[in-house]
Amino acid sequence: MKKIAILPGDGIGPEIIAQAVRVLEVLKRDGLAIEWSFAPLGGAAVDEFGSPYPSLTQNLAREADAILLGAVGGPQYDTLDRPLRPERGLLAIRKDLNLFANLRPAILYPELANASTLKPEVVSGLDILIIRELTGDIYFGQPRGIAVNELGEREAYNTMRYSEGEIRRIAHVAFAAAMKRGKKLCSVDKANVLETTEFWKEVMIDVAREYPEVELTHMYVDNAAMQLVRRPKQFDVMVTGNIFGDILSDEASMLTGSIGMLPSASLDEKGKGLYEPSHGSAPDIAGKNLANPLATILSAAMMLRYSLGEETAAVRVEDAVKKVLAQGLRTADIFEAGCEKVSCSG
Ligand code: ATP
Ligand code: MG
Repeated sequence: MKKIAILPGDGIGPEIIAQAVRVLEVLKRDGLAIEWSFAPLGGAAVDEFGSPYPSLTQNLAREADAILLGAVGGPQYDTLDRPLRPERGLLAIRKDLNLFANLRPAILYPELANASTLKPEVVSGLDILIIRELTGDIYFGQPRGIAVNELGEREAYNTMRYSEGEIRRIAHVAFAAAMKRGKKLCSVDKANVLETTEFWKEVMIDVAREYPEVELTHMYVDNAAMQLVRRPKQFDVMVTGNIFGDILSDEASMLTGSIGMLPSASLDEKGKGLYEPSHGSAPDIAGKNLANPLATILSAAMMLRYSLGEETAAVRVEDAVKKVLAQGLRTADIFEAGCEKVSCSG
């Protein structure tokens, strides 16, 4: 029996999670060996236990095979001391569980073609997966700081830094994902200018020898940013470091229309992961039964695929989402003229 820790969080979190749970209930009814328990994270956890990542939640998350998260945060928590802010709960759980691999698919569903910022012929059929390293790079490299230099002038610095082991483990995640998809992997770097990413490229090439079936290509990040809007369908899986991945995954998400459609996964070395929609807690629409639950339901599908080893169930959930869209059912964020019905998440 696989265990899932469900952390609804704040804002629309509990609403969208409730819909994902309905999906899990159907899978369980049909024989899937899963069970789940709930715990608070973020503001909800501060309200109940005085900490955004309390030990009860920590214990449940550590024991689970996978974690499904709604979203955290809300204006009512903005005045709290920094260590008590909901976002700290999210950073704490990512760090606690060593979730170094962030997977963000960008899929354009045919029914939502007009929601993209690009022309239909450029994006129709788009299905790419961006893999971002999440625990290294310039975000964490030492030394960092703001100081006065020898000339008496203030200066600031951060350090782009990756160890070989850190690159190898994200490379394996990327090649394994490419094996399950189109067997094409594009590694994004700036090897012409930055030693850190020159080393990144070298290690990618070395790991590639273990995956002879995967075609590995390399692209400079500036060109990758351009190609993503010029001809995005040339990509299947992309892998890159923390800062380039931050920027490119946001860019890619805009190709697909609404933020309410985008799932994400953050994985550790053993494939355990935390799954959450790419969007936030949307306090402006919380409690109004307006939230699009599809990003969360698609995150549950990723959970089935990457942490629970249930590819068939994952595909079943993804097919159900496609069917709902094909039937013309829409939440307001993906509603457009010509669409039949607007449905609420309830
Ligand atoms: P965070 O900092 O937590 O990422 P944010 O400030 O980026 O939050 P979101 O909470 O992602 O913002 O919301 C941005 C906008 O998108 C809001 O107007 C919100 O209502 C809308 N939105 C976000 N998620 C959904 C959803 N699932 N369904 C419909 N609209 C959504
Ligand atoms: Mg945001």
